[in-house]
Amino acid sequence: MLTPTCARCQEPFEITEADQAYYVKRQVPLPKFCPKDRLKRRLAFRNERKLYARKCDASGKIIISNVRPDAPFPVYHTDEWQKQTHEVPQLEGFDFNKTFRQQFRELWLKTPRMHKATAGNEENSEYSNHCGNCRNCYFIFNSEEDQDCMYLKFGDKCSDCVDCHNIILSQLCYECVNVKNCYNLKFSDDCESSSDSAFLRNCRSVKNSMFCYGIDHQEYCLFNEKLSKEEYQKRIQEFRLDSYAGLETAKKRWEEFSAQWPKMRHIILNSENCSGESIYNSKNCSDCFTISNCEDCRYVLNSVDTKDSYDFFAYGMKTALMYECITIANCYDLKFCNYCMYSNSLEYCESCWSCEDCFGCVGLKKAKFCIFNKKYSEEEYKALIAKIKEHMIKTGEYGEFFPEEFSAFPYEDSLAQDYFPMGTEQKQVAMPEGILSVDQLPDLIAHAELNLSDQIFFCPVEQKPFKFQANEIKFYKKVGVALPRVSFEARYRRRNQLIPFPY
Ligand SMILES: [Zn+2]
Repeated sequence: MLTPTCARCQEPFEITEADQAYYVKRQVPLPKFCPKDRLKRRLAFRNERKLYARKCDASGKIIISNVRPDAPFPVYHTDEWQKQTHEVPQLEGFDFNKTFRQQFRELWLKTPRMHKATAGNEENSEYSNHCGNCRNCYFIFNSEEDQDCMYLKFGDKCSDCVDCHNIILSQLCYECVNVKNCYNLKFSDDCESSSDSAFLRNCRSVKNSMFCYGIDHQEYCLFNEKLSKEEYQKRIQEFRLDSYAGLETAKKRWEEFSAQWPKMRHIILNSENCSGESIYNSKNCSDCFTISNCEDCRYVLNSVDTKDSYDFFAYGMKTALMYECITIANCYDLKFCNYCMYSNSLEYCESCWSCEDCFGCVGLKKAKFCIFNKKYSEEEYKALIAKIKEHMIKTGEYGEFFPEEFSAFPYEDSLAQDYFPMGTEQKQVAMPEGILSVDQLPDLIAHAELNLSDQIFFCPVEQKPFKFQANEIKFYKKVGVALPRVSFEARYRRRNQLIPFPY
């Protein structure tokens, strides 16, 4: 076991013998940063939910993108980018009098990028990111095959759900986290196959119940007490979720009642020799979070079907041999790469799709044996790569992920800001003119007019303006809950605290 000092936080960190064997196998030097600083650096390269209206530099049209309008590189709508009818810039040769990063920067600044991450069609769902095959959705992220949903993260095959995290095959759910197969469930987490209920935690097959923890196959339960149908219906009258004041009281009662149990269960299911949290059907994975069907991994998060990988964040899907990579799917043997798909044997590449044997490339599609986007013969490529790596070892660049300055996003827009916040000292901001206080919202949802969506309110938590969507107000009416009085961002942050994360 080695215990080097992290070059960033100056704390010692462990490199086990198994880690060393992995680094030898992947032919990379030992990492200079501790696992936490490596993760923080990688997460600065992923912006899931900060969206901007900006110009598509190919068509000139205004598009919704996760890249800010003032980004220093061209941004194309993904459909335009995928056509690859544009000329992709390249650098002529490798200059051994310069560092890799100096040269890569040049390419990085002039190569067109995709406007956001999409996987499949999006129908009337342009305010989304990292989504595929969703219809009529708004502000949903990392989600697939959803319909009529708003404000989801990791929503899979859901309809009519609002403000949920990690939700699968569910309908009419609101403010739920980690739920599967649920219907008309509200303010609940870690539940399966439950319906017409609110404030449940760790429940399975529960119907018509409120304020329950850890019950199974039950109906008409209140505060974990089984009641008759009549008694239940009578007693729940007291809890008015359709009133803001009533909802606040209910939340307080739930907080008091549920405080006696842990917030989240420790989940490692059908797995062998694993450590971390939220691990399903995996083997020999240590320090991994939210993974399924993974094997021989360490420091892997939010991934499925990933093998033999270290320091990897999202997505996997038939992926193996990832080292220091983020936002990758269907790839094999990648090192230090960001947002690459369907590719093999890449190093230091960004936004490359269906590529093979490339080094230091940006925005390429279906390319092979390229360095700084320039094509070489196989022999030339192999000889030059060996020389470049030698050079980069001398300059101290080889073996480390890109530094944050190479992210397409400012730190504050990235996932790193969610988990390692910087510069968040909340300043009290005076409410701008023309913006309404949330105190002016009606207490009862029945009194909320749909034209409230024309007004702008001020979020007391984020200290920023926010709006309701007309469809959102309709949803609250349908499920009978009062309007929330904080913005999506504040609601998101509160839910995100329930998602397992190592730090
Ligand atoms: Zn560190």
